[in-house]
Amino acid sequence: MWSVLTKHIMKHKVHRSFASVLLSGRKNRSFPIRCPFLWRRRQHTVKAVQEPLACSPSAEIQHVDAMDTERFIRIFWKDGSQSLYPFVWLRDNCQCPGCFLHSAKARKFSVEDLNVNTGVKNVILSNTRQISVLWPDEHISEFDAEWLKRRCFSKESRAEIQEELFSPACRYWGSDLQIPVLSYEEVLRSDEGALKWITTLKKFGIVLLDGVPAAQGELITLGKRIGFMRLTFYGYTWQVQDKKDANNVAYTSEKLSLHTDYPALQYPPGVQFLHCLKQAEVGGESEVVDGFHVCNQLKELDPEAFHILSSVLVDFTDTGVDYCDFSLQSKHSIIELDDNGHVLRINFNNATRDSVFDVPVEQVQPFYAALKKFVSLMNDATNVFCYRMKPGHIVTFDNWRLLHGRRHYQSDERVSRHLEGSYLDWDVVLSRMRSLAQSLQAPK
Ligand SMILES: [Zn+2]
Repeated sequence: MWSVLTKHIMKHKVHRSFASVLLSGRKNRSFPIRCPFLWRRRQHTVKAVQEPLACSPSAEIQHVDAMDTERFIRIFWKDGSQSLYPFVWLRDNCQCPGCFLHSAKARKFSVEDLNVNTGVKNVILSNTRQISVLWPDEHISEFDAEWLKRRCFSKESRAEIQEELFSPACRYWGSDLQIPVLSYEEVLRSDEGALKWITTLKKFGIVLLDGVPAAQGELITLGKRIGFMRLTFYGYTWQVQDKKDANNVAYTSEKLSLHTDYPALQYPPGVQFLHCLKQAEVGGESEVVDGFHVCNQLKELDPEAFHILSSVLVDFTDTGVDYCDFSLQSKHSIIELDDNGHVLRINFNNATRDSVFDVPVEQVQPFYAALKKFVSLMNDATNVFCYRMKPGHIVTFDNWRLLHGRRHYQSDERVSRHLEGSYLDWDVVLSRMRSLAQSLQAPK
């Protein structure tokens, strides 16, 4: 409650101070363009190390001034818009070679050396695409228009850049999903194909790749297309088959109810690949559910159940021997929220939910009631998409968002169904997405 209140107050304050800034513009110093050469001598050779930036017409600057009272530099863009940049942020982000290591694209300047109340001695418009700031200690910083525009603090600009960095918003779906299908060959051979695969995976949470050779080991090739795979206690890849003395419920021919993989890890894998090598003659259909969509439904239908599942920490455990011996314990809420209250990840696997349950005794019954509501909703026929994998398919899906399961299949002495699986982290997958997007955008 307190954190919610504090957030609200902070928001209100920030809003008010921005409004007062805009109303008090008359107090501010304004520097017309004048000869920059008087102090240009002391500037660093920034140009020599900076990459050339393609400048869009909207990133041209009309005028710049320093608002000393509010400690903002204000930029008037040629397109009529304005941006505010706090002095302290500009000083912190000086791009000169003394303050920024361009070969590593990393800050050298330390907080120890930062005066959080710094003033600005002078700011000038070097040309329409660059400003120069002279600090009280005579240090000089130069900032390119395009660089500044990209970092504008307005709500709209921040939202735009965040979408670019973390990819497009989710498209929710139910049993009517048109499962996105892409060619494996195209994903491997073409950068456009690989980028389309990753952005679609992020947007819909699932992409089926077809035309894959039905031989073990292809997941290694696909993992290398991204970067590297996540090693777990089940190895880099693992074989989903009916096994004698199975060390995991997946390694039987039984029905697997809807779940996410590996909540027994404190950081569950973000993306899962399953490659169909052999399908059962009878049964073995796959089921998937858009967990984020179901969470939205639960929040609407039963806010109390949503609150319980997003706040009570559940113990998970996984013990056994595979890649090496393991004895895992973790704690997660079933519905994990980010700081903005949006669903970040579903952590639900009934097989590894521990019988050890670290909650006061009176919270146990309400927790089960809430979980039952959530599970009933995810099993609702309007939410479950069912499909049948064939040899030569790899299904790739978001393990933080989707719940997946499979129907019972008939198994006999021969190996009647065989999937190979592997995991990747979203960090690695999204890194590849950004690199592909950058290289495809770069002028050839
Ligand atoms: Zn510097």
